[in-house]
Formats: sequence, structure tokens, C-alpha cells
Amino acid sequence: MKQHNFNSGPSILPPTVLQQAANAVIELDNTGLSILEIGHRTPYFMAIMEEARTLAKELMQLNDEYEVMYLHGGATTQFMQIPMNLLDSEETAAYCDNGVWGSKAIKEAALFGKVNVVASSKDLKYTYIPKDFSLPSNTKYLHITSNNTVEGTQWHTFPEVDVPLIADMSSDILSREIPFNQFALIYAGAQKNMGAAGVNMVAVRKDILGGISRPIPAIMDYQKHIEAGSLMNTPPVFAVYVAMLTLRWIKASGGLKVMEADSIAKSNLLYNTIDALPVFHCPIAKEDRSRMNAVFFLADPALETPFLDKCKAAGMVGVKGYRTVGGIRVSMYNALPMESVVNITDLMKDFANSVG
Ligand SMILES: *Cc1c(COP(=O)(O)O)cnc(C)c1O
Repeated sequence: MKQHNFNSGPSILPPTVLQQAANAVIELDNTGLSILEIGHRTPYFMAIMEEARTLAKELMQLNDEYEVMYLHGGATTQFMQIPMNLLDSEETAAYCDNGVWGSKAIKEAALFGKVNVVASSKDLKYTYIPKDFSLPSNTKYLHITSNNTVEGTQWHTFPEVDVPLIADMSSDILSREIPFNQFALIYAGAQKNMGAAGVNMVAVRKDILGGISRPIPAIMDYQKHIEAGSLMNTPPVFAVYVAMLTLRWIKASGGLKVMEADSIAKSNLLYNTIDALPVFHCPIAKEDRSRMNAVFFLADPALETPFLDKCKAAGMVGVKGYRTVGGIRVSMYNALPMESVVNITDLMKDFANSVG
């Protein structure tokens, strides 16, 4: 039975993308070869890479000051690749600490330069996004996590700063219309909202590159990847292909406007259900709630296991909260149909009735 897939990542993909990817594993577009067998410097793959880069730029409405790269490693690689490329050892970068992923990025940056944590919501278990902070004049760049996958918070407006703004958008990339050109660097592991695991998308405004004295290993050097069109070495061919298919699907579905409208409808239904049923509670500040990952709890912790059992029996996966947070997490990425949210909210109402 096909499951209602609320996984946080790797996560749900559109059925058409799965079908096209499956077909290409057998044979890519009448080439007589599988996507797993073709050379990365063939015209076939070069066209796929080019389309993946062009579609990403188009959907984010980025102009020619930006380049899009597809690079190996998860978003975790970017935690170190960003400071390695942008932060000299005597320079200071500002970071917002809003959860598990942001704090990992902070640890990595500290290996390369100085880190100034300008805002943190650790005091309240990362249940909100602190927006009131200022940047010292020597700040090289500001790093934020646009959506905190584990904690269930999301930036709904972005800080206006006069230094390069960098965002880890792994879990909400291409889910809404935002001013992407407000950012100097955007990165996302593909496996949440734009494809399969194994590749990162990095969009960078080129003027921020090249200004540091540290020698950078070639495979970590953004400028070298740009010069090589993301083909410096063998890229993760299949993962890039799936990302390209997913980008095509987003565009054909109506683009970010439609992704956003769907995401608002799905998350409103879920949060309204949580707020209406005393058996559940969501500790996240209302204005900062994530439309991608809803984190909530059973008012009586003893009911958590029975609730999870009920979800499992109804064919729902990925509903258990992150190991350090506990509770429930329902991820509602672009490809999740409204029907799945209707199903889980109906189940929540039934559950609330059954426990009194
Ligand atoms: C999942 C996630 C990561 C880590 O991604 P990997 O691809 O596993 O390295 C980093 N940041 C955010 C916001 C995430 O959701």
C-alpha cells in the first residue's frame, strides 16, 4: 500500500517524477543507455545539468549576477564549504542559532574564522525566531536557516542587512515566493523539497567570491565549480537528474506561487486542527510556525505512543518527532498532496474523540 509520506527527508516526491526517474534508469530518452550508464560529459547529461541550473535560476528569478551549482555532499558539506570560501581566519561571520542545523553550521564556521552568534532561541528550546538583533560593522556575512526542519520554525520575513545574507534553505527551498535576490548565497540539500539525496544546490552571487587569502582545495572552490559548470569531476548524475525532473514538475505545476498557496492551505489545515483539539499542543510561536514541518506534542505524553500507533495503522509514515525533540513532526513538502493532510487531521479528530 502506498503510504502517506510525512517523512522529513529524504521525503516525498511527485509520482510523475518517480515514474520518469524509473524509466530513465532503464533507458534515458531513447539513448539506448540508462541514466546510470551515461557519461557526465556527454551532450545528454550536459543538457540535463544545464536545464537543472537554468530552471533553478528561473524559479528563483535570479539574474546573471548569480550562478547555480550542483555539488556533492549534503547541506552539511556547505556548513564548512561556505566559511572555507568566504571567511578569512581573522574575519568574523554572524550566525543565527535557531536550531540543530544552524548550530552545526556555527561549529563548522568556527574552524575557519571567528563566529559571532547574533541571535539564538536556545533559551526557549528553539520555539521561535529572534528577529531583533544588530550586526557589528566588521561582519563578513550573516547566516540563517530559513526553515528549521527539526524544531518547526520558519522565517516568514527576512532580515534586511547590508552584508551578504546566506541561507540554508534545505527544507523550504522553492516552497514559496520570496525575494531570492536578497540573498548572496542560498544552499539546499536536494532530498527534502527538490529531489533525491546526494546533491546540493548552491546559488551564489558571484561578487562575494574570491576575496580571501586562504588556499582552497579545488573540489571545495566555488569559483572552480562555476568555471567548470558543475562538471569539475563526476557529479552525482542520477541525483542531478531527479532534481531537474522535480524542477520541471514545480514549473509545470504553476511555479512557486502554486507551491506557496498549496503549502499555506495544507499547513493551515494542520495547525488549525492542532489548535482546536486540547489533546494536542504546538509550542511554536504562531508567527514563526513552519509551513513545511509542523512540530507538536500530545498534552498527555502517555498518549504519544497510542497516537503514533494509530498513524502507523492508517498507513502514515514519518510522523515521529526528531530524536532530541520528541513529540510529533508532520512534514508537508511540495509533493505532499492535500489528501494526506486531510487524512491525518481526520485521524487526529478521531483520536481526540476516542480519548475523551
Ligand atoms: C536536512 C538538513 C540539513 C542536513 O542535510 P544533509 O543533506 O543530511 O547534510 C541541513 N540543514 C537543514 C535545514 C536540513 O533540513
